[in-house]
Amino acid sequence: MSQKFLKLIRKENVSPSSDIYHFERADGLPFEFVGGQYVILNTGNDGDGKAIKRAYSILSSDSKTDSFQICVKRLGTGKASSILPELKLGSELEYSGPWGKFVGDPTWPPPGFSLILATDTGITSLAGLLLSKKFAKSLDSTITVWLKTKEEDFLSEQELRKILLGVPNFPNIFQIPPISAPDRVPTVLEILKSILGDCTVPENAFLSGDGNILREVRSELVRLGTLESRIGMEAFFNTQRNPSPVVTLG
Ligand SMILES: Cc1cc2nc3c(=O)[nH]c(=O)nc-3n(C[C@H](O)[C@H](O)[C@H](O)COP(=O)(O)OP(=O)(O)OC[C@H]3O[C@@H](n4cnc5c(N)ncnc54)[C@H](O)[C@@H]3O)c2cc1C
Repeated sequence: MSQKFLKLIRKENVSPSSDIYHFERADGLPFEFVGGQYVILNTGNDGDGKAIKRAYSILSSDSKTDSFQICVKRLGTGKASSILPELKLGSELEYSGPWGKFVGDPTWPPPGFSLILATDTGITSLAGLLLSKKFAKSLDSTITVWLKTKEEDFLSEQELRKILLGVPNFPNIFQIPPISAPDRVPTVLEILKSILGDCTVPENAFLSGDGNILREVRSELVRLGTLESRIGMEAFFNTQRNPSPVVTLG
């Protein structure tokens, strides 16, 4: 397959720990995607010569195809997230995508109550989905939730309001414990219970962000009656269940 490239046309520092990047296709063709999908950027090689390829959800609306935006958190020690802030305007990056079969499926969401839930940086795919052409008709029957830590400055509420201008479903924001805190998952499950009440079962759901939380939320939704096939999930980190601790006898 031939290589594809994106050109960086604008860069905005939106908080001490995040930047929004505007890209266009280097060949000048429209960038077609479905809101909520992501691209994989090749940001260069690491010390061992291995390509640093990372996924980033598209934050901007799929109505606009001349360019698109992603928001990337600076993780300090992160490889790609340290390279991207140094990228000069006009630089070109190899990419693949757009990816994301679940949101890309034209039959999803079928009619019914939808829950869109994001934790931490997962807010990017929530925004992309809410801004998508295909989701516009489902907004009336959708509840949106963003779970974030007190310290999280990835996107301020003000910045998010700018991005979601015109969308009626601004996310309900809840504070949750830090990523490694033991009470993080139980707190989220309590919040989920309070949102859904005793009888509202979402018929469709899309979950993005911390895999450790998303797996538990998905199990809870399935327990309540949501069909697993109607739940989309994108873990941005904690992608694999932590292995059980090894027990040594003797
Ligand atoms: C489908 C998909 C969409 C994504 N969309 C976005 C996006 O829109 N914006 C964005 O900033 N990132 C997004 N990510 C995460 C991104 O792909 C990278 O993992 C992230 O930028 C770290 O890459 P790095 O090379 O800087 O860090 P690495 O050198 O790979 O290591 C950093 C470590 O930090 C962990 N980590 C990754 N993300 C976070 C986080 N948010 N909080 C805490 N720890 C984290 C990783 O699991 C890893 O252990 C997405 C991931 C997926 C799978």
